[in-house]
Amino acid sequence: MSESLSRRDFLARSALAAGALAAGCRRREPPPPPATAAPPVPPAGRPQADGLDPLPYAYDALEPVIDARTMEIHYSRHHAGYASNYHAAVEGTRWEEMPLESVLADLHAVPEDIRTVARNHGGGLFNHTLFWAVMAPPAERTPGPLVARAIGEAFGSFDVFQAAFRHAALGQFGSGWAWLMVNDERELEVTSTPNQDNPLMSGVAERTGIPVLGLDVWEHAYYLHYQNRRADYADAWWRVVNWPEVERRYATAVQAPMV
Ligand code: MN
Repeated sequence: MSESLSRRDFLARSALAAGALAAGCRRREPPPPPATAAPPVPPAGRPQADGLDPLPYAYDALEPVIDARTMEIHYSRHHAGYASNYHAAVEGTRWEEMPLESVLADLHAVPEDIRTVARNHGGGLFNHTLFWAVMAPPAERTPGPLVARAIGEAFGSFDVFQAAFRHAALGQFGSGWAWLMVNDERELEVTSTPNQDNPLMSGVAERTGIPVLGLDVWEHAYYLHYQNRRADYADAWWRVVNWPEVERRYATAVQAPMV
């Protein structure tokens, strides 16, 4: 069995195990509540756009690193747009109920007439759902024990890792993402992708793996506050990295079966 097949298999299984995220990604509407239940309301302070999982925090929760207006536009317009376009494209096809991670890992199986939308908008949906989850209000957080050890093994030190990530973020020409991922050798690796591509996309991404941390370097992610200063945004962003969530994702990713 090839590596990409085994990884797809893992992705499908991990999506089932992880459950909520994948389900939230692909659901257009929440399931109808029981007749006696009150209509669902988003948790206090957590904005929720139509058909999307609620943002894990309020729009202003990441200030001063990321301003509230940027978060509002980014979540309620950009992210919502990726989600609705993706769902519209796969509606009525057998990809509609497939975990998003599995669709992205095997884009060449998607019919040609919806493949580009699946790549760009499905990618955008996955990437932004991950992005919100791996951020949290500014605080002094450090990597958990598993990620700290893996960073040491892969990069030698946290400083070297940060420099590599910064290089990936600043070196991505135009729009794209910088990633920390578990590569196909089950090691941490830094990479970047253009547009809404991500390392799940076998046959598309130069380096493939399971992303555990991602930084959106599209101008829409930072321009209102940082204008052209992508470096300032990338450097400030460490203060909102949600390392406990990265630890959780890393622990899941390294459970991928070696075949
Ligand atoms: Mn974005």
